[in-house]
Amino acid sequence: MKIHEYQARELLAEAGVAVPDSHVVQTVDAAAEAYAKIGGRVVVKAQVFAGGRGKAGFVKLCDSAEQVREAAEFMLANRMVSPQTGSDGIAVKRLLIAAAVDIESEYYAAVVVDRTRRRPVVMVSREGGVEIEIVAKENPTAIVKQWLHPHLGLLGFQSARLIAGLGVTDKEQAKAVSRIIRGLVEVFFKYDCSLAEINPLVRTKDGQILAIDAKMNFDDNAIFRHSRLREMFDPGEENPLELQAKEHNLSYIPLDGNIGCLVNGAGLAMATMDLIKLHGGEPANFLDVGGSVTAEGATEAFRIILTDKSVQGILVNIFGGIAKCDTIAEALIAAAKGIGFNVPVVVRLEGTNVDRARKLLAEAAIPALVIATDLTDAAKKVCAKVA
Ligand code: GDP
Ligand code: MN
Repeated sequence: MKIHEYQARELLAEAGVAVPDSHVVQTVDAAAEAYAKIGGRVVVKAQVFAGGRGKAGFVKLCDSAEQVREAAEFMLANRMVSPQTGSDGIAVKRLLIAAAVDIESEYYAAVVVDRTRRRPVVMVSREGGVEIEIVAKENPTAIVKQWLHPHLGLLGFQSARLIAGLGVTDKEQAKAVSRIIRGLVEVFFKYDCSLAEINPLVRTKDGQILAIDAKMNFDDNAIFRHSRLREMFDPGEENPLELQAKEHNLSYIPLDGNIGCLVNGAGLAMATMDLIKLHGGEPANFLDVGGSVTAEGATEAFRIILTDKSVQGILVNIFGGIAKCDTIAEALIAAAKGIGFNVPVVVRLEGTNVDRARKLLAEAAIPALVIATDLTDAAKKVCAKVA
């Protein structure tokens, strides 16, 4: 799960991280009102789940109510396109009006899970503001890392190393950086983050250290224990098909290809996608209906896959263990009648009650249906259908 910058700032501020004063608004008038409260120079920022806003023109410095209105009008009326969005871009519904700061240096600070070392790692860099992936590639020594013991957290010497890594020597500023890193680590652990990032963390011309942009991702499997995060959830920013899938306990991930996949079990889904690729096709999605899939679950899965306009063929691959093949066959027939198949559907069923399932499918005589003998045969057939 992701949250907006303004929400991430809220969590950081609660953990003692210094962030400039700000207001969230949804209209041009409210933006002007927020400006009246802050005054001076402000920054108007689109609140969307994608970075690269600065370069896309969706982070603007303004010195008057008129400029704020103009920036707000532009951002609310135009879709934002950045390297982190699709070419269609995304609509902007909320804006953050924040007190602007005079920046002297931009730093980077983040905590992420390091899967290789199986623990969180704090990363800081003097080269903040830009994308960290580029720094990591072109100048890896500019990133200083400290790995955290899951029970001990951030230790004093690690904090000192990170501050040294940022090249902050002034005593007061070092203290301020230390407080911010500690706050960031606190938020990371408290809310089960997979990423907690401040980019940029800035030193202002008058020597203050402030977080002026924040990004957080959370482990979906831990959301159940954070009512605070559930309140922050913004369904408007999510892919509607993914939401629909989540509601029905299906794990669905849209991909770029044209072959829709409906499979029971994540491992089997991976193997299915591998075979599709092996035979020259491209999967349109990963969809795991779960080992104990029901007729309702399968029907919903068809609904989701068939909504995707890029799907030109579907491969159904079910291994009946706990799930019964005849249940799936019935769901297939119900979906064919209820939703209708406008693309070929190649089916490979194996396992519990497969004989009854085959019989049901044969009797239903659905024109779009193609029965495969095994997985390789199914992959070949569906690839041929969409070629
Ligand atoms: P992102 O591009 O989506 O990551 O948005 P950021 O919030 O990081 O803003 C992008 C850039 O805008 C920052 O790296 C800064 O250079 C600039 N910026 C943002 N806020 C301020 C501010 O208050 N004052 C100044 N001078 N620049 C700012
Ligand atoms: Mn940023």
